[in-house]
Amino acid sequence: MRAWPLWTLKRAALAYWLLVDALALAVVVYVIASSPQPDPAEVARFGVIAGTAGAVIIGSSIYSHRVDESERNPWAAHLCYLTAGVIALPCNLLVLLLFGPALHGVLGQRPESHRWVFTLSATALAVFGTRYLLGWTDPTQDLPVMVLGATALLVVRAALIALGLKLRSPRATAEEVVGEPIDAVLGIVAVSIGGLMGFVATTTPVHALMAAAPMALLERAAQLPQWRRSAQRDAKTGLANAVHWDGRARYELAKARSRSRPMAVMLLDLDHFKRVNDRIGHLAGDAALSAIAVLLSGTVRRGDLVGRFGGEEFVVLLPDAEPAIARSVAQRVRHAVADLAVTTVGTDGREHLLTGLTVSIGVATTQRFGYELPDLLVAADSALLAAKGYGRNLVVMA
Ligand code: GH3
Ligand code: MG
Ligand code: MG
Repeated sequence: MRAWPLWTLKRAALAYWLLVDALALAVVVYVIASSPQPDPAEVARFGVIAGTAGAVIIGSSIYSHRVDESERNPWAAHLCYLTAGVIALPCNLLVLLLFGPALHGVLGQRPESHRWVFTLSATALAVFGTRYLLGWTDPTQDLPVMVLGATALLVVRAALIALGLKLRSPRATAEEVVGEPIDAVLGIVAVSIGGLMGFVATTTPVHALMAAAPMALLERAAQLPQWRRSAQRDAKTGLANAVHWDGRARYELAKARSRSRPMAVMLLDLDHFKRVNDRIGHLAGDAALSAIAVLLSGTVRRGDLVGRFGGEEFVVLLPDAEPAIARSVAQRVRHAVADLAVTTVGTDGREHLLTGLTVSIGVATTQRFGYELPDLLVAADSALLAAKGYGRNLVVMA
């Protein structure tokens, strides 16, 4: 228990995550203790909703396994049948429905199980908050109230989770804490299908089975953001990969040209990096690359576009950067890399504090080389070569 990654959270985040978990647990205990026994019709409704959801999620898991999908986002499907439960089930059976995501977390053997528990707790609080809004014992089917309830479910859940993620990583971007626009769309689709399913389940339960196909489609669509991210990002460092960076850079350059704004391209290559691999091993080298990626993203401005160009080469596009600014950013990065200390594990299996990394940087600006990306990259590359030639750990302006 002492080794749980939960304890690595910052104090404010830890307090908040535990508070959300404790509140959710308290609500669940209260619901179980205070609800009357469900009648057979309610149990039948539960059977149809849980059975449909189970079949969809298990089917999708089997499919994902067959096509070697390593990471999945199953929350859209969970939200879908939980919404149905909010409308159609008594509160204690709604608690049983929460076993779906709970079981999914356990069986999926998540590396960050505390995060799964936190997301589950936030979901439970949002679900029961919505239920309270619709009517605790006899939820309303009045359309405007249902729409309000569905909105509350999505917004409260997203806000509870976003605050937790922001406390955990204060530097996280809005996209990282609240998700992308597509996540909001998926959420809306999930509660809409769930709403329909719950509505149907209260009148003719067996017809709720028809929700299986749209739920399965939702489950598949929920993987889209993940697929797009893996197509755009470099797996080792999480930075934009070379292809994605290239596309974004061309777009930004065209925009800057039309507005006559200056831009700079910074090309970085770690010095004597082969020696790091040779001395402490490739895994340590990889850890150093990840640390450099975090450092780079943290050292430049938010609108700057950081990418992994190749092996141990990185590239940054600096919008609105005059040559003097670009030079000072490059110097700041160079100093930050020189001060970096990375804890790694060497080939001998022992912990190793890697220090003394240096980087050479070539910088090209639109003022000298225009707005064509290949021209800027060629210029930055030859400046980088010059920096290597002058002895490394240097910034050279093209
Ligand atoms: P310098 O740039 O200063 O001339 O020397 P260098 O040793 O860094 O040489 P170069 O840039 O040509 O070589 C890159 C080396 O970086 C080769 C390889 O050992 C290492 N490298 C490239 N990609 C990766 C990677 O993904 N992981 C690890 N661990 N090492 C990598
Ligand atoms: Mg290189
Ligand atoms: Mg190098």
